[in-house]
Amino acid sequence: MKKIVMKFGGTSVGTGGSIRHVADLVAKYAKNDYRIAVVVSALAGVTNSLLETACQAKKSDEKQIENFTTQLLQKHKEAISAAITDKQIQKEVTQITEKTLSELEKVLTGICYVGELTPKSKDYVVSFGERLSAPIVWGAIKDCEVETQVFTGKEAGIVTDSNFGEADPLMNFTCHLIGERLGPLFEKGIIPVVTGFIAANQDGIVTTVGRGGSDYTATILGVALRVDEVWIWTDVDGIMTTDPKIVPSARMLPQLSYQEAAEMAIFGAKAMHPRALAPVIKENIPVRIRNTAHPENEGTLITKEPAANEANPVKAVAMIKDVAMININGAAMVGAPGSYAKVFDVLGKNNINVMMISTAVSEANISMIIRRAVLGRAISKLEIALLERGGVVSEVTAEDDVAVIAVMGANMKGTLGVASKIFSIVAKKCINIRMIAQGSSELNISFVVKEKDGVAVVKAIHEEFMLDRN
Ligand code: ADP
Ligand code: ASP
Ligand code: MG
Repeated sequence: MKKIVMKFGGTSVGTGGSIRHVADLVAKYAKNDYRIAVVVSALAGVTNSLLETACQAKKSDEKQIENFTTQLLQKHKEAISAAITDKQIQKEVTQITEKTLSELEKVLTGICYVGELTPKSKDYVVSFGERLSAPIVWGAIKDCEVETQVFTGKEAGIVTDSNFGEADPLMNFTCHLIGERLGPLFEKGIIPVVTGFIAANQDGIVTTVGRGGSDYTATILGVALRVDEVWIWTDVDGIMTTDPKIVPSARMLPQLSYQEAAEMAIFGAKAMHPRALAPVIKENIPVRIRNTAHPENEGTLITKEPAANEANPVKAVAMIKDVAMININGAAMVGAPGSYAKVFDVLGKNNINVMMISTAVSEANISMIIRRAVLGRAISKLEIALLERGGVVSEVTAEDDVAVIAVMGANMKGTLGVASKIFSIVAKKCINIRMIAQGSSELNISFVVKEKDGVAVVKAIHEEFMLDRN
């Protein structure tokens, strides 16, 4: 008997038909002596539409809100009738859906009246996506005559800090609660269906663990239930040499080490949430990325050991688009102890994550990459804090039309000439590099180009390193 957490992303539960397929898949494994816990994302596109509506709710009227919830009801009702055949189960799930949506309507109306959207209320609004999808998946599994129960992340016992929008679990407490609440039924073969992405802080207030966070929920649950493997079901065959939407000939990588996979997730391989591997690394639980449409494929297996016999030092190339570059200039920074500390202190205190840094030996310039969404806040905070403090910095500038290209592979470590090959490929395309960084781990080389050039760079590197061939 194998114990598995199976996570189904939005792309796997986009429609009623695909939910039915997911339920059949789960039921097949359950009937083959697998113990399964299911983690489910919102229906494809729903989280984005909730976020948009939440941001507009400040300015919208009650009519617009009603239109939105009516559309959501329609979408989920269609999914219910396609995914579930038993009329009684259909009715039960429809009632849950209607109740949840009337709550959402009240929340959005509240935001519209107050005219304010805080990170806390934003998390509450986006939590409805998974609260709507999980009961349908639960109903569909029940329809396959397999015993199952549905939980929100909060009900399951996932407790996080209060960093709304990017919360992290309090792992020991969470494991204890999940063990208590889900453990006994999981051991009995009853399938818990848990909403991905959403949890609660210690006061019971709803939090989310970051976009794409259902992967994280799955690994948290995997550790708490001490499973043999965590399976992330998605719409591609596994982790690939690059995004197949950019290079259709991208090749699936059958095996990756935790370190390589984490590096790829951080650098934009959307197939996995960047922090999702943290819980399983500690417990040494393997993760598999698999294609819901092709369950006969084994997918990418992520374990402690790197794959053996890899000839190519470069394994994958990725592009991160939603980033911006900040440049901080000031001749007085040269040799001034603590000037870097001031910059990072300001960003850290304002909860702005720095993804990449590079400085010149002259120290007259620091360049940093951050998420584009926080650029405005970062510049204003830096300007206020740095220009005020004794003139160490003379100028803060930004570019928001850039992308990071990351080239990765464990065998890059110690291999000569990889960097020079990469940069000559880019030069041959007459594309200008704005910034370069190589971590001392030597697992990746990242550089910044204008966003409009990103796709061409990814394609050229993929081709020149022959990543589509083993
Ligand atoms: P899900 O809804 O299952 O969570 P995501 O959209 O989050 O799916 O992730 C899957 C998508 O990630 C794929 O459709 C693919 O376009 C994209 N992707 C980007 N880079 C990679 C990569 N290196 N390997 C696999 N998929 C990638
Ligand atoms: N629904 C959430 C999102 O779109 C979480 C997830 O899909 O993993 O970000
Ligand atoms: Mg995802």
